[in-house]
Order: sequence, then C-alpha cells, then structure tokens
Amino acid sequence: MISERVEKPLASWRGKERYGNELLDCLTVIFKSAGCTWSKCRMCSYRHERYDSQSCEKLYHHLAAQLAWVKAEYKPEEYQMVKIFTSGSFFDPAEVPPEFLGDVATCFCGKLVIAETRPEFIDTDGIRTFIETLDNGTWEKPLYCAIGLETSNDSIREKCINKGFSYADFTAAASRAKSAGAGIKAYLLFKPLFLTEKESVDDMKQSIRDASVHAEMISMNPCSVQRRTELEFYWKRGAYRPPYLWSVLSLLRDAPVHITCDPLGGGQKRGPHNCGKCDYDLVKGIRDYSLNADRELINALLETPCECRNEWDYVLAHEAPFCMPLTR
Ligand code: SF4
Ligand SMILES: [Zn+2]
Repeated sequence: MISERVEKPLASWRGKERYGNELLDCLTVIFKSAGCTWSKCRMCSYRHERYDSQSCEKLYHHLAAQLAWVKAEYKPEEYQMVKIFTSGSFFDPAEVPPEFLGDVATCFCGKLVIAETRPEFIDTDGIRTFIETLDNGTWEKPLYCAIGLETSNDSIREKCINKGFSYADFTAAASRAKSAGAGIKAYLLFKPLFLTEKESVDDMKQSIRDASVHAEMISMNPCSVQRRTELEFYWKRGAYRPPYLWSVLSLLRDAPVHITCDPLGGGQKRGPHNCGKCDYDLVKGIRDYSLNADRELINALLETPCECRNEWDYVLAHEAPFCMPLTR
C-alpha cells in the first residue's frame, strides 16, 4: 500500500522471502526519512522521497510515528523477516537519527532484519549496538546489511551509475559488518546507462562471482526507468533500452549461487521486457524462481518459443558500445 500521510511509511507490505532453504513470511517497510545524502545516482528517483528541511527538525518524531503505525498494522507473529528501506541509507545518522535505530531494534527483536545502507554508514560499534537489542537468539545472524553495490566494476559504477563509492569501500564495509556479527546482502544493478546488452550481461556475470565472495545473499535488479532521473532523460531520447528478460533468465541460469530477482516493471516499456507477447509468463517465472530456486524452471522458461528470441540473439551479437571519455 502506498501512503501520502506523513504518519505512515512510504510503503509497507507482507510477502514471502527465501532464506537458505526456508521460505519466510516477510514484512517490507519503506520509511520516509531525511533522504539520501548522496542523491546523485543516475537511475534513482527514490532520493526525491524525503522530508523538507523544516520538518527534518522533527525527524525523530516523524519516524517514531511511522514505526508506531507499523506496530499497530502488522502483528509480530505474522512475519519472521523484516526488510527495511528508506529513501537512502538506514544507518546514515544524518538521515535516520540513531535514537530511532534503537526503537527499530526493540520493535523487531527476534526478527531477521535486512536493512539497506550505503557502505560508508556501516560502523562496527553502531551495528553491534543495533544487534545487541535486536538479537534474542533466534537467528545466527539477526541482521543483514544490504548494500547497493550495483556492480563489482569500479569504472561502470562510477561512469554509468555515479554511485560514489568503490568496490574496496564495499569489501571494507562488509568486513566491518561481519566483525559486528551482521551478514551482507548485495544488490546488483543489471544494465545501467551507457552499456550494451552484452556488456551488461558480462558485467553481471563477473559481479555475481565477485559479490558472492562477500555477500551471503545477492539480489539482482534489472534496471527500470524511474521518473525524474538522468536515465529517463536518455530513455526518452532513445538512448537507453531496459534489459531483455532473456538476459535476466540467462544470468539466473548461469549464476554460481542462487540469485533472487524481482523484475520491477517487468514486461512494461520502462522495465525489463521482451516483445510483449512472452513477457508475462517469463516475469512470473522469474519471481517464482526467486522463491523456489528451481533451475529447471529457468531452463524451461529459456525454451519458451517466441520470435523475439532471435532479436535478443542479434542484439547481443551486434549492439555496439558508445564511447565514454575517461577524462574531462
Ligand atoms: S541509489 Fe541509493 S545511494 Fe544512489 S541516490 Fe538513490 S538512494 Fe542514494
Ligand atoms: Zn517474445
């Protein structure tokens, strides 16, 4: 459900998530915060969701009111996992007051929490303190820090995404999180701006291999065109096409570890799509695979007969890269 009242989170919903070989009931909450302090990624519109500076003075009260709404709306026995997002980084003290972190850890004590943050906000002591309140012995790792690594390639992360941190920053943050007792979830972005389909497939293959060394969970986000973004500017001028679902399937098939994937906007012109005829079944299959990890399903989906399969083969073979200068 999407909310416009400040007392509610931006969105919250219940669903299922795969964890190891288990299926858990999961509550996802997107808190409205002071907003991402980086706010420069080329494909991101979440950064527009923030309190204005005046209401930031009352930020803690806004967040506490949202948490109270969550407590009233969802019974704790209805979910085991909680995924927490803000319009930036949950552990950024300028975005989410540290006092509120304590409230969240108390509220979700005994749950498995996955909270998204940029790597620079993973502080060993802060994470340890959060876990001390959150942990009641139910989970070996009660907290996973979810980092939008996007790719393990520093050039692509800088030039095509403008993410503002390096792969070394990610691995250092993963070490800090682990020393504090937390796990790591990596989000990868499949097909950012300026890459051909083939380049982006190759980038994901390498990124999955690299990220799996540091992250227990990997989720691949096929890029979609969000409003009021630089990506949308290029897309409107025909300079960007979201990835093919065939590519998504081939990456899931070839990945050395289980990768989850929720193709947002799948089958639509702004989201990952094929020709329009075969999209619905493939998107559904990709979502099913995230839960059941059944590679045979992916193999079967890749055999779906459709004319656009030839188009995808052609694009992989013939799409040419455009030059991005290395220097200014
Ligand atoms: S992708 Fe994350 S880090 Fe980048 S601008 Fe959006 S919220 Fe900030
Ligand atoms: Zn098709």
